Amino acid sequence: MSDQQRDAIERAWDGVVTTARRTAADGLVVGTSGNVSVRVGGTVLVTPSGVPYDRLRPEDAVGVDLEGNRVLGELAPTSELPLHLAVYRNSDAAAVVHTHAVHATAVSTLVPEVPPVHYAAAMLGGPVRVAAYARYGTEELAENMLAALQGRTGCLLRNHGTVTYGATLDEAFDRTAQLEWLCRLWLTASSVPGHTPTLLSPAQLCDVQEALKGYGQPG
Ligand code: 13P
Ligand code: ZN
Repeated sequence: MSDQQRDAIERAWDGVVTTARRTAADGLVVGTSGNVSVRVGGTVLVTPSGVPYDRLRPEDAVGVDLEGNRVLGELAPTSELPLHLAVYRNSDAAAVVHTHAVHATAVSTLVPEVPPVHYAAAMLGGPVRVAAYARYGTEELAENMLAALQGRTGCLLRNHGTVTYGATLDEAFDRTAQLEWLCRLWLTASSVPGHTPTLLSPAQLCDVQEALKGYGQPG
């Protein structure tokens, strides 16, 4: 490995640890729930299975290739490796975040799709689907997730949690935060007795998606 590659891996691992700690600090996971990964060329750096994020040190980096063979580190990778690798094999993702965010997980037990009560749904590519249930860590869960992710950058896993991806760790993390917020909003609006929240139409969501291309600062 060249010095340049080593530096890139070190920086990417630092980003994985920072993002994983953020999921805990922001209440999106409890304990060692959830996992985070980032892709650097043909190597995927992932959080190790069952290790509290505040204990992760620079020397704890775990790297696998796209087939899941460990190429870096001593610790066992996350049990959700099939899920992370499935995203990298089937999209242009450079980062994946999985959490057990409470409102999103609650919604995953109630509906097949997050009702589009807000234009934030467009930030994830449209109404967010709920993947069919399969046990954590299985190839079946990864397959169900891929079906739910079609045309989206995030989905819910039934009775389990969230998955989002992005071009950077920050983008993947922000999508998780938006998804959790959207689920919380729907739960709040739909729990007012005698009222049913209005939803955005597919045309209104498409309109937002177009507008979002020009959102923020120029360039
Ligand atoms: P790991 O500790 O193996 O990453 O598992 C946590 C989890 O969320 C499994 O779905
Ligand atoms: Zn999980």
